[in-house]
Amino acid sequence: MSELVIAVDFDGTCVTHDYPYIGSDIGAVPVLKELTDAGYRLVLNTMRSGRLEKDAVRWFKDNNIPLYGVNKNPDQKSWTASTKVYANLYIDDSALGVPLKNSPTSTRPFVDWEQVREWLVKEGYL
Ligand SMILES: [Mg+2]
Repeated sequence: MSELVIAVDFDGTCVTHDYPYIGSDIGAVPVLKELTDAGYRLVLNTMRSGRLEKDAVRWFKDNNIPLYGVNKNPDQKSWTASTKVYANLYIDDSALGVPLKNSPTSTRPFVDWEQVREWLVKEGYL
C-alpha cells in the first residue's frame, strides 16, 4: 500500500481536449482506479477554476475515483509556502516524455493510458 501522491492534469490527460466541456473517455478511469486502490493519493492538478474545476471534480466523483486534493496537496502547507502542487509523480499531457495518442475525433493528442500503465508497472508503481 503506497501513500505516494500522484498529481494528475485533466484536459488531454483524463479526457480528450474539449475545454471548457468535459472531453471523452480515453481509458484513464481504470488506471486511476487501480492507482487509488493501491493506496496512491491523487491530486487533481488543472488550470480549470471555479465552475469548470467543479465539473472536473464531479468527473472523478462520477467515476468513483477518490481525490486527495484539488489544485493543492493538503499536506504541503506544513513545510512550504510554494503554490506548486507537491507530488511524487505528475501525469500531464504537456509533460515531456508522456506517451500521447492521436484520434481522428480529437484535434489534439491526449495521454495514452495503455502505455502509461505499462510504464507504471515497469517502474514498480503497480
Ligand atoms: Mg492538459
